[in-house]
Order: sequence, then C-alpha cells, then structure tokens
Amino acid sequence: MSTSLWRNWSGTEAVEPVRTVKPGNANEIATAVREAAAEGLRVKAVGAGHSFSGIVAPDGVMVDMSAMDGVVRVDTGTNLVTVEAGMRIWQLNQVLDAHGLALENMGDIDRQTVSGAIATGTHGTGDRYRGMAWQVSALALVMADGSEVRCSAEERPELFAAAQIGLGALGIVTEVTIQCVPAFQLQAVETPMRLDAVLADLDELVAENDHFEFYWFPHTERTLTKRNNRYSMEERRRRPTRLAYWWNEGFTENTLFEASNRVGARFPQTVPSLNRLAGRVWSARNYTDVSHKVFTSPRNVKFREMEYAVPREVLPAVLRDLKALVDERHFNVSFPVEVRFAAADDVWLSTAHGRKTAYVAVHQYHRHEYEEYFKAAAEIFNAVDGRPHWGKLHWLDAKRLGERYGRFDDFLAVRDEVDPERRFANAYLERVLGA
Ligand SMILES: Cc1cc2nc3c(=O)[nH]c(=O)nc-3n(C[C@H](O)[C@H](O)[C@H](O)COP(=O)(O)OP(=O)(O)OC[C@H]3O[C@@H](n4cnc5c(N)ncnc54)[C@H](O)[C@@H]3O)c2cc1C
Repeated sequence: MSTSLWRNWSGTEAVEPVRTVKPGNANEIATAVREAAAEGLRVKAVGAGHSFSGIVAPDGVMVDMSAMDGVVRVDTGTNLVTVEAGMRIWQLNQVLDAHGLALENMGDIDRQTVSGAIATGTHGTGDRYRGMAWQVSALALVMADGSEVRCSAEERPELFAAAQIGLGALGIVTEVTIQCVPAFQLQAVETPMRLDAVLADLDELVAENDHFEFYWFPHTERTLTKRNNRYSMEERRRRPTRLAYWWNEGFTENTLFEASNRVGARFPQTVPSLNRLAGRVWSARNYTDVSHKVFTSPRNVKFREMEYAVPREVLPAVLRDLKALVDERHFNVSFPVEVRFAAADDVWLSTAHGRKTAYVAVHQYHRHEYEEYFKAAAEIFNAVDGRPHWGKLHWLDAKRLGERYGRFDDFLAVRDEVDPERRFANAYLERVLGA
C-alpha cells in the first residue's frame, strides 16, 4: 500500500489518491473494496492511464491493475481467450501470436490494459468492423459489496450489456473473455491524397478496403490515406525490416515530428509550413505484416485529444466545417486530424451504438493551447448529434449525453442496482452519468 501523485499519460490529470493498492487476485480486490467502503472512500481501477479525460482520476483508493496480467484460459476450438483484466494489449498480442490467433480489430496503440481499453469503448477503423468491447464475450467483476460475479449474454445479460463499456462505474473487472479470430496479415498501402479527392471518393475508399482511415493536415489540402486489407497467414509476403519500421514509425513519426512540434510551439507562425512538410515526409508506403504490427505504432510525442463519433453520412460536411473553422479562427494546429470508420453495434454505451459511424479526432501537441480549438470543434460535432469518446477530452454532461444514447437510462438503472452508494464514482463520472 502506498500513496503518491498519479498522472495520466498525456499530463491532463494529476491527483493524489488517499492510497494505492496493487492486488494480485480478485480476493485482494474484494478486500480493498470492503475496506474502502468501511472508511467511506471511493475506489477507482486504473489501467495504463492512457485516457485523456478525468474518467480514470482516482480520488480515494486507487486500484493499480498492473499485477493482474496473466492468461486464464485459451480455447483454440472456439477462439475464446480469457485473460486477467490488467494485461496490456501488447502482452495479449504475444499470447495470441503463440496460439495462431488475433484480435479482430484494434486501435492504433497497444499500450493500454485490456480492461481499460474496453471500459472506454476503444476502437480502430473499418466499415464492417466494430470496437474492442464488441469482441468481449464474458466478464468477471468485483462489485461494490465485495462479491465476485460473472456476466455474459447468457448470464446476467443486463449487467453484461452495461459492463461491456462500463466506464469503470459498475465494478472492478478482474477477467475478460475475448472472441478472437485466426491470425491474419494486413497489407498496408499508405498514399498521400488531396482532401477534396478523398471526400469525393469516400464511399468507395471506405467500402473497398477492410480498414480505411486518413489523416488530414490542417492549414493544408494534404491527407495521408491508409488502406489496410486482410490476408491469411499462408500468403507469402515480404515483411518490412526493422530498419524500415525505425525510419517510418520511430524517426519520421516520432523523433522528427517531436522536433517539428517544438519548433511550432516556439514559433506558431511556422505551423502551416511545418504541416505541409509533415504531409510530404509522411509519404507513400506499402508493406505487409502480422495484423497487430500494422494496426498499431509507437506514439512517443505527447498530445491532447478529443474524438467524436458522428453519423457516417454527415462526415464530409463536418470536415468542411472543421477546415473552415481552423482557417477562419486562425487556430495553430500542428497535429493531423484523424478520421476513422466503424459498423453499427449494439453495446449500450458504444459511440457506434445503432448507427454506422465516422470518428473525427482532433489533436494538439501538449505544449500548445488546445481548449479553445477543441471547444469550437465540439460545437460542430455536437450539432450533428456526435458522441464523444469516453476516454478523451470533452465537455458534455449526463443530460446532453443521455439524449444521444438510446440505452443510457438502462445503463443508469443497472448502476443504481449494483452501485447505489457510488463506490466506483469520481468527478468525471458524476458529470457524465449524474451523481
Ligand atoms: C497515444 C494514445 C493512442 C490512443 N489510441 C486510441 C485508439 O486508436 N482508439 C481509441 O478508441 N482510443 C485510443 N486511445 C484512448 C485509450 O484507448 C483509452 O483511453 C483507454 O481507456 C486507455 O486504456 P488504459 O488501460 O490506459 O485505461 P485507463 O485510462 O487507465 O482507464 C480508463 C477507464 O477504464 C477503467 N478501468 C481500467 N481498468 C479497469 C478494471 N479492471 N475494472 C474496471 N474499470 C477499469 C478506469 O477506471 C477508467 O474508467 C488512445 C490513447 C492514447 C494516449
């Protein structure tokens, strides 16, 4: 047990919990929850701290999940894999590689914990694919009274539907069962295109590629498009060398990009030229590798991020409005805007619940002012009924969020039942779910 200042990855949150515990199993979590209850303290499970929002800020007992990172069960007949909740995604990928399995889809980094990623609705891209929580088929949790329960579509289905993207508000997840798929390769084709050309061909680009996304460089017409398509492991394709990975992902996208952002922070008037340069340096690439190596890359340049899920059909209008906003208000935006896609799903608090979705993520280098830019962009996203990523920055409250989710009240009802004393709340959850 220890206490010290805790900070999240992006530096947007710094808090001192009353104490920190690092449990090794569900019994130790149950003890920590009961002891906190006896003292009237709140409890917060913390994963890798990669959320930008205050969702993960612990103000009472912080439960550090890092010691619970083991494999529980791998069933190569059903491809169901059960792991302890604090396992990092990169560790999970190693386990899956060893069994010829893979995650069906994932986001663009692998540093998060499994439970943290699913709790906030972490997603990747792909018009026919869904986020990580949708791949979960069962959960085990320690509840506010210290009991351990299991849930799935068959067992306590209402709790399961809520806990799939549970925001850490319902209990502490101890084990996660994930429906995996046979391992596969991705061929990545990265091509610069003009923004108007991407928007003109958007429907084909999204439909004709398994995982399409693009980065638009503000203050320019440039984008970098990424088309990732799936191939079986049997197809023989030449993989990139370590040097090629270092050059593209280590040097260009991190070392050089950090240097250019530092210059932009010191001399803001250079940002448009630096973005034009970045649009040229992040250039065409064509390579194939095992899926998770293509889905994810290292992200060492610190930034702040807000991301909204908008109805797929309004995306072109949203991007044109965003471009006009950046030009008219003269915001200095040194980070590209990332645009991704997802199929509709049925997870209660999923940002893609019930509708085909496009994700628009605005970023700002951590030494740049971000709030005015993000708030102005949020007005555009809110006007089209956008839903903010739960783990990224936004300013909406329970009333406004409730209007955007058909099953919001059902989620609140489950929360009232399983955590009436709000043992697992914090300030962020009070804002987005109500007290
Ligand atoms: C560089 C970077 C890249 C990113 N890329 C993507 C991306 O491509 N796609 C995307 O959708 N998001 C992305 N994100 C956001 C990130 O995936 C989410 O914020 C995710 O929640 C972080 O996981 P974590 O383990 O750090 O969780 P934390 O931030 O530590 O916690 C998040 C929430 O999960 C809860 N939680 C954690 N463990 C448990 C548990 N065992 N039981 C109950 N609740 C728990 C916490 O209490 C908290 O509410 C990115 C973030 C960064 C910093």
